[in-house]
Amino acid sequence: MTRYTGIIDAYRSRLPLPPEAKAISLGEGRTPLIKLDNLVRHEGVEADIYVKFEGTNPTGSFKDRGMTMAVTEAVHRGAKAILCASTGNTSAAAAAYAARAGIKSFVLIPEGKIAMGKLAQAVVHGATIVQVRGNFDDGMRLVKEVSETSPVVLVNSVNPYRLQGQKTAAFEIVEALGEAPDYHCLPVGNAGNITAHWIGYSECAGTGTQACLLCKGNCTFCQTGSTPKRPKMIGYQAAGSAPFMRGAAVKNPETVATAIRIGDPQSWDPAWIVQKESGGWFDECTDAEILACQRLLAEQEGVFCEPASATSLAGALRDLKSGKIPAGSTVVCTLTGNGMKDPDIILKGGFPAMIEVDAVKSAVERVLVDRL
Ligand SMILES: *Cc1c(COP(=O)(O)O)cnc(C)c1O
Repeated sequence: MTRYTGIIDAYRSRLPLPPEAKAISLGEGRTPLIKLDNLVRHEGVEADIYVKFEGTNPTGSFKDRGMTMAVTEAVHRGAKAILCASTGNTSAAAAAYAARAGIKSFVLIPEGKIAMGKLAQAVVHGATIVQVRGNFDDGMRLVKEVSETSPVVLVNSVNPYRLQGQKTAAFEIVEALGEAPDYHCLPVGNAGNITAHWIGYSECAGTGTQACLLCKGNCTFCQTGSTPKRPKMIGYQAAGSAPFMRGAAVKNPETVATAIRIGDPQSWDPAWIVQKESGGWFDECTDAEILACQRLLAEQEGVFCEPASATSLAGALRDLKSGKIPAGSTVVCTLTGNGMKDPDIILKGGFPAMIEVDAVKSAVERVLVDRL
């Protein structure tokens, strides 16, 4: 059988699910690993840079890898409803996988600052949308409290099944390259995804990791790997929302990269373990750097990611130019989400005036002649 049916079917033996649990899937995973040829030349850096474009997942972000696991596990336990706080992509994924499972979803979103495409996804999949007078961190605190007393399963990345699903992106990268890259760069919000990737790489290496909250590196998956190399993990934050750079929670996080507008990361301790075990680091990018990099990638390579996603590449390019990432390195940057979720950010930045013509061939030809 050749039909691809998602990460649970692809990696079942490496995921902690009861054998009889029926996968709730939308065919997530198997995302492209695109080598950046033009951009590397344009920027004059010497490295093999790949982007793992998670924007091609069914709901347009890597959250699908985690959500298929969290929802599959919840439904197997008999759950009838799931709950999450979200800056947008978690709610889109939760709403879609709940619809697929035939259960209810409740999503808490912050006041304003949610990309229009993401909101539309929650609406169209029939989620109950609760707008909190506060930011993401307020929503997160509330869903943790509510899920303790209500018959709903919390599907934020504090649910360990989320990270188990998300680790499969590292499996795909190791399969594609034959081994782990030298460096793996990610945008960091709650820091669940950087932790999940490290769990995945550590399982491939057969070492496991203390950052895994389920087993601390002591389960059977952790001891069966055979590709020993692991990357240095680099987490990039938006400058106005960079608790890992400040060493403490940030009270009023602000950034155009709404997906990482998070001041109090839920995977704080695991992410520090990832940094130490991998020998990587955290750094920050300004909103201007993030938006410029989003454009650069779209114009040079035809890849349209959302602002938060461009943070990984913006940081990687800067660290390559400064030599912090040595020339000749193999670098993978995760592009976490699809640019089409947030068209406003592009159009707000202005665009060349459209050219209006009469509906005749010669008028269109004149436009071409002037520009060819
Ligand atoms: C969720 C998300 C992030 C942040 O991931 P964390 O696991 O919270 O660090 C980054 N980019 C996009 C597009 C996201 O949806």
